Amino acid sequence: MQDGQYDVLVIGAGAAGLSLALRVADQARVAVFAKGPLTEGATLYAQGGVSVVLGKNDTIESHVEDTLNAGAGLCDPDIVKFVVEHGRENIQWLIDRGVPFTRLDTADGTSDFHLTREGGHSHRRVIHSADATGRAIETTLEQLVRQHPNIDLHEFHIAVDVITGSKVGLAEERCMGAYILDRRNGRVLTFYAPQVVLATGGAGKVYLYTSNPDVSTGDGIAIAWRAGCRVANMEFIQFHPTCLYHPHAKSFLITEAIRGEGGRLLLPDGQPFLEQFDQRAELAPRDIVARAIDHEMKRLGIECVFLDISHKTESFIKQHFPTIYNRCQEFGIDISRQAIPVVPAAHYLCGGVVTDRYGRTDIEGLYAIGETGWTGLHGANRMASNSLLECLVMGASASHEILRHFRDCPAPLPLPPWDESRVTDSDEEVVVSHNWDELRRFMWDYVGIVRTNKRLQRAAHRVELLRSEISEYYGNFRISNDLLELRNLVLVAELIIRSALSRHESRGLHYTLDYPEPDRNKAPCNTILSPDSVASFQKAAVS
Ligand SMILES: Cc1cc2nc3c(=O)[nH]c(=O)nc-3n(C[C@H](O)[C@H](O)[C@H](O)COP(=O)(O)OP(=O)(O)OC[C@H]3O[C@@H](n4cnc5c(N)ncnc54)[C@H](O)[C@@H]3O)c2cc1C
Repeated sequence: MQDGQYDVLVIGAGAAGLSLALRVADQARVAVFAKGPLTEGATLYAQGGVSVVLGKNDTIESHVEDTLNAGAGLCDPDIVKFVVEHGRENIQWLIDRGVPFTRLDTADGTSDFHLTREGGHSHRRVIHSADATGRAIETTLEQLVRQHPNIDLHEFHIAVDVITGSKVGLAEERCMGAYILDRRNGRVLTFYAPQVVLATGGAGKVYLYTSNPDVSTGDGIAIAWRAGCRVANMEFIQFHPTCLYHPHAKSFLITEAIRGEGGRLLLPDGQPFLEQFDQRAELAPRDIVARAIDHEMKRLGIECVFLDISHKTESFIKQHFPTIYNRCQEFGIDISRQAIPVVPAAHYLCGGVVTDRYGRTDIEGLYAIGETGWTGLHGANRMASNSLLECLVMGASASHEILRHFRDCPAPLPLPPWDESRVTDSDEEVVVSHNWDELRRFMWDYVGIVRTNKRLQRAAHRVELLRSEISEYYGNFRISNDLLELRNLVLVAELIIRSALSRHESRGLHYTLDYPEPDRNKAPCNTILSPDSVASFQKAAVS
């Protein structure tokens, strides 16, 4: 008996999930699931914008080249071209749906879109909606999905696992639906659909400090892995150099534009330090600045550094950085008079579930798009504003593939309900909260911005222990949102550690003191892990 039957289940309601849902809903019955309120996800907090070739002197070739350069030899050139070429039509799709991108009034009275320039881009090509682009996209799409008669929205529902053929006695290993926990009453529901899309965003919460919202716990990656899919390049985590450091401020990013306007990074004694690491100092690329801050924090044992823009006038700051000014005021920090305490924070996961250009994973009927998927676009380092672009292009591309197939999908089958016969209510919730804290702390200390073999090995031992504790707990007690997230985070952490250990070089976002240079003796290669090979690796390690 199932609790719902649809043509398509979309797990995740960010830019990737909502754009896909809208594109298929005129022809298919769709259910969209979100772990919390519909709009809560990384998309809502994206400030900068979306990269797209619209400028007069800009070209597709130039955007492709910039992306390949940022990716440090690991981008898939065909995918880069595919995504970049489809940028314009996807932005037009958003404009047609009413996303209010910032316009520029030109001298001849015509009105074009304002484009900004960000790190790594050789042209102005970032279309934006003031300094809250993600909010503009997310809330516009939200209104449309709420009105669509073919879309059912399930907020506060967390996907536990997908149901595949082997679970219902089929020879064919294809996706059949998903088990979903209704967080409001603790019931696990069974939803049937022949096509399921994982659009659950990234996994920043695996680290102590992150710019990501609470929902970014890598669920889609863990779900796909448990279903038998491969994952790739999990060692490439982008750290943003400057997140507000305050006990009550969660995940608040301080834009790089502050450094662009002359803001200086200082040690607690007021000394600048970036020149010692790179002659471009405050204007060095993101990963170099993040590494320098991490180095100084570890060297001095300090909890944060300071970003100072107080040499600018109050009116300049209020005009250029209104959101940051107001947010810092809420925490008693007047940025026109004092420096802002900042730490680097996990920001973006370049790796994910291996997919092709249609978002198809290794399992028939299962798709992964947005930050959850790995297409080969970003390589070893993501170029700013290419991620929202990927969400939109892959949402469109997967939607075409889903519509191409949905008429010849197998007829619905009865699915086994969730089995709770052998579990009881937990009597030790502290196991979940303790392990959650421990995981995020050691991932930060041992698998962070600067890595070494020794630190990674330490992390590998700890994560194995946590994994066995959590899986025992999972087998004995009724599931909860926190337990599901922790189970997923531990798995994702293990995939990051394993991938990092297997890369014997520094490349892009992966930097290790044991191999400080790229390996020039062999061609650059991706780190692909498959559930089969890791299972045998674990057995070998135990024996
Ligand atoms: C602060 C910040 C600023 C950024 N700025 C930019 C920028 O300017 N330009 C740019 O291109 N990129 C930017 N990025 C990156 C970009 O925002 C993200 O990569 C992108 O929004 C991811 O979109 P998504 O649809 O894949 O996932 P998200 O928008 O994160 O949405 C994930 C969805 O999945 C749901 N979900 C998760 N797990 C489950 C589960 N188990 N069951 C049910 N639902 C689940 C969540 O509830 C949510 O609805 C920024 C990121 C951050 C954090």
